[in-house]
Amino acid sequence: MSIEYVLIDSHFENEKDESLLHGRFIPYGLAILDNTMKTAGYQGLLLLENKEYNAFINSTNQQNNSIKLIGISSTTITRFDAKTKIEECRATFPKSIIVAGGHHFGNCAEDALINIPQLDIVVRGEGDEAIIDIMRYACGSLAINAINGISYRDEYGSVISRGPKLIVENLPSIEFVEKFYSMEQFVQNPLSADMPIPSMNILAGRGCPHNCIFCSVNRTRVRRYPVEDIVNMIEKTTKKFNIRGVKFYDDSLTLSNSYVSALCDEIIRRKLDIVWFCDSRANINLDLLSLMYSAGCRYIAVGLETGSPKIQKIVDKNITKEQVMQFAIKCKEVGISTYVFLMASFPDETPEDLELTIDIARDLSKKGKAIAGSMGAAVILPGTQLEKIARERGILAEDFSWHKPFNDQLNLDYDVPPNIPLYREGISPEVYKNAKRKMLANYANSLSLRIFCKNLIENILRRDISWAEKMTIGSNIFKAKIKSLFS
Ligand code: SF4
Repeated sequence: MSIEYVLIDSHFENEKDESLLHGRFIPYGLAILDNTMKTAGYQGLLLLENKEYNAFINSTNQQNNSIKLIGISSTTITRFDAKTKIEECRATFPKSIIVAGGHHFGNCAEDALINIPQLDIVVRGEGDEAIIDIMRYACGSLAINAINGISYRDEYGSVISRGPKLIVENLPSIEFVEKFYSMEQFVQNPLSADMPIPSMNILAGRGCPHNCIFCSVNRTRVRRYPVEDIVNMIEKTTKKFNIRGVKFYDDSLTLSNSYVSALCDEIIRRKLDIVWFCDSRANINLDLLSLMYSAGCRYIAVGLETGSPKIQKIVDKNITKEQVMQFAIKCKEVGISTYVFLMASFPDETPEDLELTIDIARDLSKKGKAIAGSMGAAVILPGTQLEKIARERGILAEDFSWHKPFNDQLNLDYDVPPNIPLYREGISPEVYKNAKRKMLANYANSLSLRIFCKNLIENILRRDISWAEKMTIGSNIFKAKIKSLFS
């Protein structure tokens, strides 16, 4: 079999720690592209892990000369790993067409093509259908200017962007995704810190119509996989692996009341003995919550981001603290635990605004309305309104590029990795740390330390690594947890 295409995932610098802390998500985007290519009759490889990629790039196998197309997917935080892989692939396969996609590249296509000369094409938006046309171009049977939704360099080196961002109207079937659940890394994640049961991750759809300034998925039409497909996948996988936990990782599962009602009805009709976790906006029809509980929902995470009305307007979340409060009260009433996401360091935010965020955390934690919460500093992602403001105000340097080396050690004071830009304006590291400490003290997070340790030990013992590595990783994660609780 000669290989005609290769699809490659990119990773965090410290992949093992990330996997242990957050679990791994099935890479639906790459998996769907791989399935589309195979269905069209092409032969190829899907390289999800670094060890698979390393074996591939170091192979001198003759059949690799047949590779027409190499596709690399990335998020903003993994972009430098993707860049390295693009450079290595170009050096090893000089004749292949190299394509980049995913949220990150799709939102800064021109920057990528200017600063990564080894890259040929960037897909802007959802490439599920365009991938076949790009393959035909790579095989010489279609002109590049016949493909919409991509950016590329013309013969003079200028970047050409053809058509608007791609949105797939009808989501493809995801039945084939089932095979990924047989891979250990995708089923072992604990459901939550205080319910450490093995769980599977699942994605019920794509898109969000809202417009939060920091978010890179905003303003895209919501589409959902059929309820039947999702429940089939849950039923088969939970039974096959004898697990009960299900974690939906949609940005907001509840954007459509009718979809969630149908999903819950189907889970109840099949009498599935599962417990599940999802993200939601707080302004849903609260009557839905008791049906969700009956279908096994036990945890919902909602974003409020800020307790300051002034900053709420700037963030454009369109959720009020009163709505979050009502949501948490109703959740508690029906038996669902609420997690609340809070953020800090937005444009024009002052320490006084941040105090209002702490106040809401305090109110939510009273009488256990919300059982836990998290606070993160506002990072800048490409294509967001926050990026635009950061450029206008000089928070991002004039010559900033997403693909030039970036390493800001000051980020560590805000618990943000150094390779991603942070919106740093009116909230100093001291103010941020103090607010985070107060916020965590308000919730019962420190009480979950015992459960966190239990999960950590269980996860590490399962890993196929040496004892020395287990000790190093375990102590690093434990130290990070202690720091987040008490710093
Ligand atoms: S943060 Fe959530 S609600 Fe806001 S645009 Fe992103 S996905 Fe939508």
